Formats: sequence, structure tokens, C-alpha cells
Amino acid sequence: MKEETIFDKILRKEIPCKAIYEDDDVLAFEDINPQAPTHILVIPKRKIPSFDALSQLEEAVVGSYIKKVAFVAKKLNLDKDGYRIVFNHGKDGQQTVNYIHAHILGGKQLQWPPG
Ligand code: AMP
Repeated sequence: MKEETIFDKILRKEIPCKAIYEDDDVLAFEDINPQAPTHILVIPKRKIPSFDALSQLEEAVVGSYIKKVAFVAKKLNLDKDGYRIVFNHGKDGQQTVNYIHAHILGGKQLQWPPG
């Protein structure tokens, strides 16, 4: 059985979140510890543990998820000034929740490199 995570509980509405968008395929909600004026997490309702697992999935599933991330960023009106998408994977990537999530960061001039 795949590891139970806090995002599984958020999806089942057992833990509250500040949702900004939801449909049959994804849930987008505010990060509890925002690193930018806009910091949204987008998770697929079909559980995927990490970005690495995308390599094992059908292209249509991967494409539809990535397309939805872009849709949410546009819905947040970030497309004109820009934004950053982050997927952390594993220890070196500092992934802390083993349920794939796209971070959408924006609302200010972001710095690079991330460190
Ligand atoms: P990562 O380090 O890429 O695994 O990111 C996990 C993210 O989930 C972090 O940015 C956390 O602030 C965020 N997070 C953890 N718990 C919650 C929660 N209950 N509601 C919203 N965001 C959360």
C-alpha cells in the first residue's frame, strides 16, 4: 500500500485547506508555509507519489496533469508577469510530502539560483 500522506487527508477533506481550484482531476490549494506572495500546490486526485513516478505513467495522464498546472497558474493571473513551477523529488530535492505536488510560486520577482 502506498504511504498515507497529509495530502491524502486533505483530498478526503479530513484536514482543511484553502482550496483555490478543484475539478475531477486535481485540487489546488494554498501552501501552509508560503515562500512567495502566491504559493499554490496542485495535486492530482489520482495518487502519484513523486515526480520520479511520472516516468512510469501514460503520457496522457502526465500531460493532462501538467496542462492543469498551467491552467491553474493562468487562473491565478500569473501568466503575464511570470511564475515558477517546482517539483521537489527525494532527499536532495527536499521533498517532504510523498504525494506529487507542483508548487506554483509567483507574485514577486523570484531569485535564481534557488540554492
Ligand atoms: P515539498 O517540500 O516539496 O514536499 O513540499 C511540501 C509542501 O507542503 C511544503 O511547502 C509545505 O509547506 C506544504 N504543506 C505541508 N502541510 C500542508 C498543509 N496541511 N496544507 C498546505 N500545505 C502544506
